[in-house]
Amino acid sequence: MRKTFIAGNWKMNMLPAEASAFIEELAGKLGNYSDARVMVAPPFTSIPSAADVIKGTGILLGAQNMSDEEAGAHTGEVSPLMLKDLGVDVVILGHSERRMIYGENDAFINRKVKLALKHGFEVILCVGETLEERESGKVEAVVEEQLTGGLNEISEESLASITIAYEPVWAIGTGKTATPEDADNVHAFIRKIIDKLYSSSAAEEIVIQYGGSVKPENSAELMAKENIDGALVGGASLKVDSFFGIINYAKA
Ligand code: PEP
Repeated sequence: MRKTFIAGNWKMNMLPAEASAFIEELAGKLGNYSDARVMVAPPFTSIPSAADVIKGTGILLGAQNMSDEEAGAHTGEVSPLMLKDLGVDVVILGHSERRMIYGENDAFINRKVKLALKHGFEVILCVGETLEERESGKVEAVVEEQLTGGLNEISEESLASITIAYEPVWAIGTGKTATPEDADNVHAFIRKIIDKLYSSSAAEEIVIQYGGSVKPENSAELMAKENIDGALVGGASLKVDSFFGIINYAKA
């Protein structure tokens, strides 16, 4: 049985005091709610203040990125050891903004996935096509390549620590959402690839989030789809009310 997983990616927003206030307010609203797993990923500089208040709330602490190295001469990078020390539970890897703006490719992302698993993190591995790729009929080819590359040499056992986030690039921060049917079709295709790379039980068990302009108004419809197990949320995770509205979709 797959458990719904709603994750907020705050990107380059939220000062330390804003992050801790957000988490305290969200935790108050969630109470002992346990229908879904909930995560927030503050920017690195706000992780310590988030970590101070997140303990005991049941909310998972995420990081938006991680170095592919543990230590040394890597100016500007943040090591898995540093994230571990701060109490981070989950790292988001392969986000389209990392791929497109900072040139991260599948081999590089795969190194990070392996290192994150080695240090006991859960991973959210993001995949998704650009508008150009969608319009030229390449959705499946792109998603298959990103999955195969990102999961290279990852064992089936380790897959239990990996969530896939399908995030069509054209739907991120644009207000355009894939229709629930379109998203569900790609999610079903992702399960097919996991089946091919691993097994039918791995395909059945893997949690697949949808990401791209998810908001309280469209989350119930998306989450009702058979293959959509949660959401990776950018813009709408910056306000407690809208993020809570997405988490609480079932009761909306
Ligand atoms: C994201 O960046 O992961 C994302 C899905 O952003 P938004 O919800 O703002 O489209």
